[in-house]
Amino acid sequence: MTSQCQQCGEPAQTTLCKNCAKHMRRQASSLAKTIPELRALAERKAHIGERCGGVRGGEPGLPVSVHWLEVYEEAARLMLRLAGCVDLKWMLLPVEGWRPAYRAICRSWSRVVCSPSAGELADRLDRMLRRIDRLSTPSDGRVTVVQCPDCSTSLAVPQGMRDGWCPECGERLDLDMLVSGRLDAACRAVMTCSPAEAADWLTDRAGLRTTRKQVSNWLARGRLSKARRLGHGVWEFNQAELIEVRNRA
Ligand SMILES: [Zn+2]
Ligand SMILES: [Zn+2]
Repeated sequence: MTSQCQQCGEPAQTTLCKNCAKHMRRQASSLAKTIPELRALAERKAHIGERCGGVRGGEPGLPVSVHWLEVYEEAARLMLRLAGCVDLKWMLLPVEGWRPAYRAICRSWSRVVCSPSAGELADRLDRMLRRIDRLSTPSDGRVTVVQCPDCSTSLAVPQGMRDGWCPECGERLDLDMLVSGRLDAACRAVMTCSPAEAADWLTDRAGLRTTRKQVSNWLARGRLSKARRLGHGVWEFNQAELIEVRNRA
């Protein structure tokens, strides 16, 4: 009896054609390799991007991500679901049972690909692996350094991480709030100096080549509305405004 492959529509002897079955097998084995990595990310034992997690002394550590724990559980649960094609009992296991479940999948692979839900499971495998791939590619390595409100350990929060635990004291952290508080403070930061020093600050600290003449021009034209004149040649500049005006120049 010939039917259609649930994945690609080609004629197939079973639920999936040979090619799609082979692809699914490869995906299941990458999932098995990925699950321990997800667990390590959740426990902050792995690196995220260039930066090494858990660096002591000097470098701020990374908060423990709640998020990775959820992705780990989802991935492990999918593995149990695949093993459910071999024997339904696998689906009753807690997520930690994914390893023996994977071994059962390898032993009885044909039962997985012949299962009526093979097509749907192959889709879910693809989606899961694509998602993990997206999540584990650091967007641009940008981090905001915040302090744990409880123990004041410095933590480097990668962009997009919303909540987590402090690796030092175990406090649950609302990273969204800490990061926006940090950015607010940065927006209010001021410095007292001459236009020449402001130009140096922009050039050296903000990486925006600026001359004293430019800063004086902005002041003369009233483009730095937050700048206050304190005395002869001395001003209070709002740092965020300096960067904003320089970027528009
Ligand atoms: Zn196919
Ligand atoms: Zn802490």
